[in-house]
Amino acid sequence: MSTKAKENEKSKRGHRYQRNWFRHIGIVLFSGAVCIFSCVATISMAAPENPEIEAMMEEKKAGEQEVLSETDPAPSSGSKNYEALMVKDEKSSIPLIVIDPGHGGEDDGCLGDGVFEKDINLQIALLVKERLEEKGFRVMLPRETDEYLAKEERVELANSYQADAYISIHQNTYEGSDKSVSGIETWYDGSDNTRDNQRLASLIHKETIKSTGANERELWPIADFCVTGKTLMPACLIETGFLSNPEECKRLTDKEYQNKVAEGIAQGVDLYFHPKTMYLTFDDGPSKEYTEQILDVLKEKDVKATFFLIGEYVEKYPQVAKRIADEGHTIGIHCYRHDYDILYESVESYLEDFWKAYDAVLVATGVEAELFRFPGGSVNAYNKDTCADIVKEMTAQGFIYFDWNASLDDTVKNPGPAQILANAAASTLDRKKVVMLAHDRVENTALCLGDLIDQFPEYQIKPLNAKIEPVHFRLPAHPGANSEN
Ligand SMILES: [Zn+2]
Repeated sequence: MSTKAKENEKSKRGHRYQRNWFRHIGIVLFSGAVCIFSCVATISMAAPENPEIEAMMEEKKAGEQEVLSETDPAPSSGSKNYEALMVKDEKSSIPLIVIDPGHGGEDDGCLGDGVFEKDINLQIALLVKERLEEKGFRVMLPRETDEYLAKEERVELANSYQADAYISIHQNTYEGSDKSVSGIETWYDGSDNTRDNQRLASLIHKETIKSTGANERELWPIADFCVTGKTLMPACLIETGFLSNPEECKRLTDKEYQNKVAEGIAQGVDLYFHPKTMYLTFDDGPSKEYTEQILDVLKEKDVKATFFLIGEYVEKYPQVAKRIADEGHTIGIHCYRHDYDILYESVESYLEDFWKAYDAVLVATGVEAELFRFPGGSVNAYNKDTCADIVKEMTAQGFIYFDWNASLDDTVKNPGPAQILANAAASTLDRKKVVMLAHDRVENTALCLGDLIDQFPEYQIKPLNAKIEPVHFRLPAHPGANSEN
């Protein structure tokens, strides 16, 4: 699709948006029978002449008919497609991905040097299908040949099957004189918060850039194009390159490069459905200034985190500590006073400080903490002689400690927001399970937290609990031994 075409799409946006809403409201509000008849009317027109899709229809048929007979009048038509597409609640647990090769048939899309966009789109889509099927997904392509299919028909097909994700593949063209413009752009409808469009689009964008090394262009949250706006499942549209750029155009016709594009898209889908896990942990709070800012961002992003609290600040700001608990985050104990010399002097001095903090948290929040984190981590420069004994005693008392395996390094040399984001990215090392260290006493951490969360679409962020296998630094073999950490 060209930049101009997008403008046209946008100018029609108001109308389409309204029509779209009427359609959605209709689907939601009307009774089962009405809904089914209206779906069938449109879907049967778009019935795919595709053996695989028809096979899927057949597979679904038995269960669907059963449900139909309980809730709806008999259909007025005996058409096979009609019956097969009618009811969709016998949904397989294997995600169904619609990979939509843009344009087709009389609609060429944009043009490169003797290259039609519709052909590149289809070639890449077929490769994505292969990759996704290797990964165990069900995949549907609205077209598998060079045929014309209206956008509305593609969307209705995906909606009728209750597909789990929709990715439309396109190529770009720059309509100015500059032939050097190149790279990948991805679009999604950011105005629709009911679908997880942003995370899908971010992953497709990020992984495809990673696999191809292509120039990273924008991730646009403003696409309510037909395919991204009318779909009922998470959707995005990726433009994998510029046909107006002769070199990129040539690359895009190369099978090896197309494979890289396909691998990136498939990897993005895979991470969308099988995310890695990140535990975001905040130490040293509650703070007067920044803990509440951090809680606001977490609330907006619907993310739960873990706070290892300092007892003396809990006594100072009990209402902030209470808010942490009330909003569903995990509370653990950090210490009562953040003074390494006193804490690690002996097992007794550690325990005395710990219980003081424990009581402060209990009084302010009602939480009986199960988790704790050692100031400086379980093994640090101040506790070489005592850490093994303290760990032994705390474990015997039933408490679980968490160190970390990634860090914002937000208390080291007062880094700016950009540096904090870079530190976070550099320290996750693609691990499947990340325990990220952060501090809710640091202004820049509060400032960049939203971007930080957006930066990791491949991770699902969760709060810690006592059932999670902890991340520990390696304890020295005997008191006084050196540690790598
Ligand atoms: Zn600390």
